[in-house]
Amino acid sequence: MGSLWEMTAELPKFESLKRDAKTDVLIIGGGMAGLLCAYFLKKSGVDNILVEAGRICGGTTGNTTAKITAQHGLIYDSLLRRFGAEKAGLYLRANLEALEKYRLMCENISCGFSEQNSFVYSLTDKEVLDKELRALEKLGYHAKFCSSLSIPLKTAGAICFEKQAQFHPIMFLSETVKDLAIFENTRVRKLRPGKAITEYGNIEAEKIIVATHFPFINRHGSYFLKLYQHRSYVIALKGAENPGGMYIDCSGEGLSFRESGDLLLLGGGGHRSGTKSRGWLDAEIFAGKNYPNARTLCRWATQDCMTLDGIPYVGRYSKMTPNLYVATGFNKWGMTSAMAAALLLTDLIQGKKNAYERLFSPSRSMLRPQLAVNAVESFVHFIKPVSPRCPHMGCALKYNVHEHSWDCPCHGSRFDEQGEPINGPAVRSIE
Ligand SMILES: Cc1cc2nc3c(=O)[nH]c(=O)nc-3n(C[C@H](O)[C@H](O)[C@H](O)COP(=O)(O)OP(=O)(O)OC[C@H]3O[C@@H](n4cnc5c(N)ncnc54)[C@H](O)[C@@H]3O)c2cc1C
Repeated sequence: MGSLWEMTAELPKFESLKRDAKTDVLIIGGGMAGLLCAYFLKKSGVDNILVEAGRICGGTTGNTTAKITAQHGLIYDSLLRRFGAEKAGLYLRANLEALEKYRLMCENISCGFSEQNSFVYSLTDKEVLDKELRALEKLGYHAKFCSSLSIPLKTAGAICFEKQAQFHPIMFLSETVKDLAIFENTRVRKLRPGKAITEYGNIEAEKIIVATHFPFINRHGSYFLKLYQHRSYVIALKGAENPGGMYIDCSGEGLSFRESGDLLLLGGGGHRSGTKSRGWLDAEIFAGKNYPNARTLCRWATQDCMTLDGIPYVGRYSKMTPNLYVATGFNKWGMTSAMAAALLLTDLIQGKKNAYERLFSPSRSMLRPQLAVNAVESFVHFIKPVSPRCPHMGCALKYNVHEHSWDCPCHGSRFDEQGEPINGPAVRSIE
């Protein structure tokens, strides 16, 4: 079953590539990040082509919960402690500006855009909320503490960012992409300097943006060490109470709430992709107890790329590849992050300065505890003597009983039961 967004809106269709092509900028990947890059580059008069392996929005973007907020869990206390006020403040500003950009664009696009308060709650720990509030005060942002919430959970309270937003991502993008040069069903198999190789033809470009969610070039940038994927499950309930606002648990593995029309979107069950999961069970049990008269209209699951330090990787792919760019690692907050990424890359491609270049630079220090976790996970699953193996880097795949797929615990590639790739970074089928 597809997501609510896929069921309730239609995207324009685009032909696949039929012959060799040439452009100034090639964008690989038609999710929120790639499509916004193509949109802003075109608006700036930069000739570009976007290629998408399947249908645009067929990846994480078509399966998101589409909250548009600068409140990314309880990130600001952690950013402040690790990087100081300047970087934490830049992160906040980049995401608030992204929210404003959506607000402006959505004035002319009918896409269910609505202003909402955003809440991050903790079930038991008020101290972490107090710390976050103090961090936000230091950054000059006025957030509020709320002790009582309109969701059926006993909490220690929540931090509220007022006047954030939510929308229907496919309705938004179906308007945004209308005049763009897009080729669907055109997977890039290999990249050479200035050239992308697809099964239908080659595309020459002065500059290339990799917006494929998990970057698929291993030779540069070490993204296979710098990223892992985290998967979560969403159900859309009819007949459940509207909580008024957007809510998420601070742990990253609890429940998430938002409404869409007369439906409640309830998310949960988060886990590292390719590891044991309870699928939709957490959300379904909660719904059964707390909304006994509601029924599930549809359910879906998706995953996102998580970085070592909680900040996305946006900018030059690596120090060795001057004309290759990347936008990835949105840590489940890819609505504002993809917008910030597209605005930054549009500037970099045109040789313009941008205040956020250093903050998001993919070449920043990698020395974080998560690096060791990623390396150990990859090693353990690489030496496991079971088949089938992932064609990306050879890790042992694990069968996902909830979604009937073979999932990679190292980097999150997924394959259907016939061995065809569903999610990257793998670009080939299982042998
Ligand atoms: C359960 C869940 C809920 C979320 N909710 C929110 C939310 O409420 N708010 C928020 O801000 N963020 C949210 N996110 C995160 C957000 O949805 C993502 O960060 C964002 O959609 C990622 O966009 P993308 O363009 O990077 O990737 P994608 O949308 O996955 O796009 C990448 C595209 O590249 C294509 N591709 C891959 N390889 C190739 C190739 N070799 N050649 C051509 N094309 C290729 C793929 O087919 C795909 O279409 C959520 C994430 C999850 C997992």
